[in-house]
Amino acid sequence: MKLSTLVKFINAIKTVSNKVLPYSFQDFLSRKLGNGTYLSQVEFHLVDHCNLNCAHCNHFTPLAPENFCKIEEILEDFKKLKKIFDNIGKIFVVGGEPLLHPELLSLFKPLREIYPKSEIIIITNGILLNKQNDDFFNTLKKYNIAISMTHYPIKVDYEGWINKFNGIGIKAYYFSLDRNKMRKQNLNPKGTNDKNIAFSKCHEKNCHFVRDGKLYVCTPTPNIIFLNNYFNFNFEVKKTDYIDLNKIKSASYINAKFKKPIDFCKYCNDKEIEFDTYKTSKKELSEWVKL
Ligand code: SF4
Ligand code: SF4
Repeated sequence: MKLSTLVKFINAIKTVSNKVLPYSFQDFLSRKLGNGTYLSQVEFHLVDHCNLNCAHCNHFTPLAPENFCKIEEILEDFKKLKKIFDNIGKIFVVGGEPLLHPELLSLFKPLREIYPKSEIIIITNGILLNKQNDDFFNTLKKYNIAISMTHYPIKVDYEGWINKFNGIGIKAYYFSLDRNKMRKQNLNPKGTNDKNIAFSKCHEKNCHFVRDGKLYVCTPTPNIIFLNNYFNFNFEVKKTDYIDLNKIKSASYINAKFKKPIDFCKYCNDKEIEFDTYKTSKKELSEWVKL
């Protein structure tokens, strides 16, 4: 049998077995035959607030109160994830602006111990980089933490920083090349959008998010609480919209669930994507919601 035919045959068996075998047995097989159970990526807030105030922020950060998340609680979430996923491809440390957290550096040793092989990446707007001391650079290097910069139209020498980091052996790159334009959320508070279309067009369905023992398919779902509280709205997040890490223990179940729309998708844009030129948030509802 030719190698390509054999690969097709094995993939066909995997596809069929993924449809018919119980999730727990799929996890067992992954561990016995493959590289273990796997989640492509996950992100978490280190802080909820930000030192930049962007209209259309998809974490709803301009509306969030100042909050420094507890490092112990973040690590507890990762210990729970480790019981389900042997490996995670990428772990994104986000916010808000993560460099605002005074205990940022205490996170990396224990997180690296839990997930030794993952790419761990800080996403920053870069504003606070020139306030960092040697401890910051040494810790990133020691625990192999990468820096990824979102390229906003502000006075930060992004290219200079990327060269500096790379020159001292810390991986650094752009997270997004052009934030002169921001994608409009255009949320529909009536919840009458087609969730299948919204999900199929969605840019955030792989941005899995962990918080308070819960794993979400995407970033807007857990963070909508900031918009709800600020505008007294009720975009509802149902129990079926997330995974309770204390109850669900199967990686295969979670990965299968994350391939399908959730109820919350009915609020998300199912039309043509619209952009706005970069601007500072005035905390107006229209920055996130299309009435
Ligand atoms: S820098 Fe990022 S997290 Fe901060 S307000 Fe802008 S888009 Fe949101
Ligand atoms: S709720 Fe659905 S459509 Fe909306 S951001 Fe999340 S995955 Fe995407």
